[in-house]
Amino acid sequence: MDRVLENRSSAGGGSRRTAMPLGDKHQKKDVEAALKRAEKAGLKVTHDKNRHRWGWLICCPCNEHITVYCTPRSPGGEAKRIDSFRRNHENHA
Ligand SMILES: [Zn+2]
Repeated sequence: MDRVLENRSSAGGGSRRTAMPLGDKHQKKDVEAALKRAEKAGLKVTHDKNRHRWGWLICCPCNEHITVYCTPRSPGGEAKRIDSFRRNHENHA
């Protein structure tokens, strides 16, 4: 009998590795989640490779934007800022 390779897909493992490439994702989970919500709402997220500035959140129809910072003093606050911008603009796109 062949032995089944058990290592392949052991579901329910406790330690999931999060080897996240530092590509277009924000390194702060809260901020990244808020950006995702904004993108879903039709807003534009632009990534800038600046050291302090992560990028922008843009509402094209209004031509308004906010800056997203790489290392906000409080990720929760940054996420709230993004969320409130989204709430103000989610019906525009
Ligand atoms: Zn707008």
